[in-house]
Amino acid sequence: MNTNSNALQVGPIDAIVVRKPIKNLHLSVLPPNGKVRVTAPLHIKDDAIRLLLATKLVWIKRQKAKYETQERQASREYVSGETHYFLGEPYRLEVVCVNLPPRVFLKGKDKIVLQVRPNSTFAKREEVLMSWYRAKLKIVVYEIIEKWSKAIGVQTNAWGVKRMKTRWGTCSQKAGRIWLNLELAKKPIVTIEYIIVHELLHLIERKHNEVFVRLMDKHIPKWRSVKEDLNRFVLAHEKWN
Ligand SMILES: [Zn+2]
Repeated sequence: MNTNSNALQVGPIDAIVVRKPIKNLHLSVLPPNGKVRVTAPLHIKDDAIRLLLATKLVWIKRQKAKYETQERQASREYVSGETHYFLGEPYRLEVVCVNLPPRVFLKGKDKIVLQVRPNSTFAKREEVLMSWYRAKLKIVVYEIIEKWSKAIGVQTNAWGVKRMKTRWGTCSQKAGRIWLNLELAKKPIVTIEYIIVHELLHLIERKHNEVFVRLMDKHIPKWRSVKEDLNRFVLAHEKWN
């Protein structure tokens, strides 16, 4: 598709303008930091977009503020009663403080037990839970990579799981290496599978071109809806005519 993008500043707002062959202007405030994005038809000039952004300044500020509140609410303290996701399902956290080595385990259908020593810090609790997520995710990833490497006919030299701020996965074609975002442990298996297949296909085709899209269509015909679900956490969206 014919697209190009540039940055625009209007007062305190930095916006990214993406031009595409579309009919309407779209304004979005995006996570993780309330970035403002305008999707615009190809022929619309920067000045016109500046003017529209200026008229929407109050709305944009309100969305950003709402996001900051959401962010605070979503931030974890790792105390009993919080909801934490594992493989797409919500679980209630139960924190147990005992003088035994820390561990995490599932209890019944809907509880994650986080066992820590009394007076454990926030950072320690987070570390214990994250290493549990990492270990669990690695088991899932291993199986998916085994299955899909064979199906696609590619081989990875190495893969790993790490915390990443902006991407679900990365692939170095040259090194034959794939990195996956630790956050995927909270997502449904179909989502993890979609990300892994996407990265594995980059071993064949580096770019997101027609060849790549055709390969995605072949292996995961429903990838578009999975991708949409994954990106549905766009905060706010408005359409201008
Ligand atoms: Zn990609």
